[in-house]
Amino acid sequence: MTAERLSPDASPVESLPTADFFQFESLLNPAEQAKLNQLREFLAEEIAPYATQWWNDAEFPAHILPKLAELQLSTPAQRGYSHLFAGLVIAEMTRVDTSIATFFLVHHDLFVEALYGFGSEEQRARLLLDAANLRTTGAFALTEPQHGSDVAGGMETRARRISSVTGEADEGGDSWVLNGAKRWIGNGTFCDYLLVWARDESNGAVRGFIVDATLPGLTRSRIENKIALRTVQNADIVFQNVMVAEADRFSGIGSFEDTKELLRGSRIMVAWQAVGQQLAAFDVARQYALEREQFGRPLAKFQLIQQQLVTMLGNAVASLGMMVRIAQLQEEGSADMAQVALAKSYTSARMRETVALGRSILGGNGIVTDYRMAKIFADAEAIYTYEGSFEINSLIVGRAVTGVSAIA
Ligand SMILES: Cc1cc2nc3c(=O)[nH]c(=O)nc-3n(C[C@H](O)[C@H](O)[C@H](O)COP(=O)(O)OP(=O)(O)OC[C@H]3O[C@@H](n4cnc5c(N)ncnc54)[C@H](O)[C@@H]3O)c2cc1C
Repeated sequence: MTAERLSPDASPVESLPTADFFQFESLLNPAEQAKLNQLREFLAEEIAPYATQWWNDAEFPAHILPKLAELQLSTPAQRGYSHLFAGLVIAEMTRVDTSIATFFLVHHDLFVEALYGFGSEEQRARLLLDAANLRTTGAFALTEPQHGSDVAGGMETRARRISSVTGEADEGGDSWVLNGAKRWIGNGTFCDYLLVWARDESNGAVRGFIVDATLPGLTRSRIENKIALRTVQNADIVFQNVMVAEADRFSGIGSFEDTKELLRGSRIMVAWQAVGQQLAAFDVARQYALEREQFGRPLAKFQLIQQQLVTMLGNAVASLGMMVRIAQLQEEGSADMAQVALAKSYTSARMRETVALGRSILGGNGIVTDYRMAKIFADAEAIYTYEGSFEINSLIVGRAVTGVSAIA
């Protein structure tokens, strides 16, 4: 059997139920369903045929951005779409290629949404239109080489307010000087703007800055040799006396607490990625099980294989159902951080089991990217760790249900 035979076009599964076994997608309104189908067409034509090659080559396909922008999926809430639609967009992108979904999520759910949420009128007028239409791209620079899970308290990157005329510290100055380092920054090698989080030297409060990525003193280098999300370009970024105008500070950010609303939104989207990852694993494993023959019959005829497929489906549907409820809570304005943390930790734990079962169903072919499953399996590891690792999200829930923090 060749990889070509396993392409979606050769699928014998079209008449079978989809991985959305409880048909949650039917909760979308007709306009949203039509838009989701438009996205599917784009993904099938522009992404699916090339995604494995981009991943193998660790190359980001910047040429797709104008067509992606034409779909007008940025800032769904402002366009009148439901939270469920926004989540299914990320799940569907992930189902085809986790890296493209991650690019989209970092740019839209962290950079563009931050401009909306915290930008001044002047900043929004200057930056938002180009960003929403992907004529410019953004990244979110929070994690540091020495501080990942504990970055809120441990952040070492410093911001000092100065006068650009005298170069001296000045509490009412027109500029800031940034010094420090950030690690793992998605889109960081090529983006136009970085949202940089740094500690104000004068009082220790965390500030947010919109930083032009070409400013003097800022260097960025690509993180090489990744085993997950290879298409996404993650950067190490160093700031050495980078001068940023006061006009590029988020005036709406007074402390790290203020970023939590933003991170809650992006954490929800990462949980939707864990859903998309499972849908993809089920799609690929079921197709393979129907086509691959051993002992003179398709793998799908073996009871153990059916059990594995059903476990995968159950995990995917349970995760999807949980996210549908989160979307409902968002509509009511009441999905709190502990609920979101449970959604992220639960869906990513189910995802890890699902992709492992899928990889096993493909046997040896499950470890070569030609058959897609190896890429799905590997990309799941990034989802498990970013936007609060599985452990940290579990501990957020543990704190909520016991009243006692075991994080630090
Ligand atoms: C592919 C990828 C993309 C990313 N993109 C971005 C980005 O765009 N912007 C950005 O700012 N960051 C980004 N990150 C960083 C990501 O958010 C961090 O990797 C994550 O927060 C974990 O931090 P760490 O890797 O430093 O692990 P650490 O914090 O060092 O943790 C290591 C291990 O210890 C566990 N651990 C830590 N503390 C505790 C505790 N109190 N109790 C129990 N276990 C604990 C963790 O769960 C983990 O298993 C990205 C990461 C990856 C892998």
